[in-house]
Amino acid sequence: MRLIIVGGVAGGASAAARARRLSEDAEILMFERGPDVSFANCGLPYYVGEVIPERGKLLVTTPEMLRQRFRLDVRTRTNVESIDRARQVVRIKNLETGVESEERYDKLILAPGAAPIRPPLPGLDLPGVHTLRNLGDVDRIKAAVDQGSKSVVVVGAGFIGLELVENFVHRGLRTTVADLNDQVLPPLDKEMSRPILDALLAKGVDVRLSNSATAIEATSSGLMVQFKTGTPVNTDLVILGVGVRPENQLAVDAGLEVGPRGGIRVNDRLQTSDPNIYAVGDAIEVRDFVTSDSTQVPLAGPANRQGRIAADNVFGRDSRYRGTQGTAILGLFDKVAALTGQSEKLLRRASRPFRKVYIHPAHHAGYYPGAEGMTLKLLFDPATGKILGAQAVGGAGVDKRIDVIAMAIQAGMTVYDLEEAELAYAPQFGSAKDPVNMAGFVAGGLLRGDHPQIDLEEALSQFQQGQLSLIDVRSPGEFAKGSIPGAVNIPVDELRGRLGEISRDRQIAVFCQVGQRGYLATRILLQAGYPVHNIGGGYRTWLLHHG
Ligand code: FAD
Repeated sequence: MRLIIVGGVAGGASAAARARRLSEDAEILMFERGPDVSFANCGLPYYVGEVIPERGKLLVTTPEMLRQRFRLDVRTRTNVESIDRARQVVRIKNLETGVESEERYDKLILAPGAAPIRPPLPGLDLPGVHTLRNLGDVDRIKAAVDQGSKSVVVVGAGFIGLELVENFVHRGLRTTVADLNDQVLPPLDKEMSRPILDALLAKGVDVRLSNSATAIEATSSGLMVQFKTGTPVNTDLVILGVGVRPENQLAVDAGLEVGPRGGIRVNDRLQTSDPNIYAVGDAIEVRDFVTSDSTQVPLAGPANRQGRIAADNVFGRDSRYRGTQGTAILGLFDKVAALTGQSEKLLRRASRPFRKVYIHPAHHAGYYPGAEGMTLKLLFDPATGKILGAQAVGGAGVDKRIDVIAMAIQAGMTVYDLEEAELAYAPQFGSAKDPVNMAGFVAGGLLRGDHPQIDLEEALSQFQQGQLSLIDVRSPGEFAKGSIPGAVNIPVDELRGRLGEISRDRQIAVFCQVGQRGYLATRILLQAGYPVHNIGGGYRTWLLHHG
């Protein structure tokens, strides 16, 4: 077996190492255009911020190590120029010498990744304008900061853009971030991104939403970025972080099938339209695990797993890729946001039926010092209760809840399974009713009809049309500090004695701070014969939407 792998980072290096573990006899060649293999792309922003102080730590392994331990023929600074599928050869070019040659393959694994999108922006090629993909890029950005850059404009408020923002703030740069969307971190639903926006603003970051950079100009002192709206910004550095595009040219030129968004088409064995060629990582189109639609999800975990699976198949193992859920996480200052599966906006776009609940628990028992609040949003099928997606934002413990729910999605579980989940508990780690259980209880209660809930948007719309009364069941003190406009205050502890004040001729929506007292109020009013719903997630959810 002569196996050639194109690309030597996440997917490529995983495939190569797995291939060697499966076969001591195979000839395994790995070609990488850049000077490094298997580096930690995900660590790059933290090297800029000097959170990772040593550059060497970003090199997970070296070509020498791969040669020695895995007996791989690793060739860096070697670009694969073309594939001749009929002859099963690739044409390669040594980028140091310019010399071209051919190499024969029995099987080929493509792991060329995705390149940062460069929007058609005047001034894109000016010095001081960067994208971030590899160590060369990070060296240039870090050098600029080390040499005294005082300000930066980051275009794009996605995961990489925001990780960079955090690290620029650490380094003391005046930081501006802009995004075309009306929110930061667009994979999240807008209300769930609110605490992340607040964290940016609290650190003095100039956040420009529903806005785009329209031009970058050179000035006597550096650069000036023009925006669609708002004042231009003078800056030393500009970083473009507006997403990535699959590196599909090799595949396209070789006549392999690609999808509408450019991802190389593969089956569940990660085999392309040519059975001798596999493809993995950011360059491919994958099946969405929840919806089965095809999608593109540029994440390190999927790329690594796909590398293993492609190698398995090359060596005759029946290994299948189940699909990608898009489980992802961001740490930003003291905030954490994470998601898995479908978001509400994706479900709406696809017109898929769903229900949602919000809970606002502490990450561990409230009586134990150090409990941090979080908001957890769970999306599920209204008929079966099958979990479709989840998002959480807060601090400590967000990662654990999203990972648990990610596994539940993998296992095809329902909200009723979350009610039953038995999770590790001691007061410094969780609660006897963990946030995962709580989300299950609230969602299960909703589906069983024990706990009639109304989505905030629906309640507000019915209220505006005069079809619904809003009752705030919190204490007068809490009510005085702010409530949903138009709500009347009847504290839950007084409710039984004040039923006469509540009209029976229209729907009622009750709410409290997070949903718990609202649930009790709903049960009291239901049993007294009122047409009542609880607003899921209470006033805190209203604040996420309107605060
Ligand atoms: P890559 O890792 O990009 O590797 C592809 C390699 O192929 C490149 O080195 C390229 O030079 C080489 N190549 C391309 N074409 C050729 C050719 N014709 N010949 C030879 N070589 C070629 N993901 C997460 O899940 N979590 C994170 O926190 C995270 N943070 C990130 C931070 C940054 C700054 C970046 C850039 C990415 C981050 N990612 C993160 C995404 C993650 O790194 C990618 O999903 C993952 O690296 C994709 O692996 P890949 O093998 O498909 O592509």
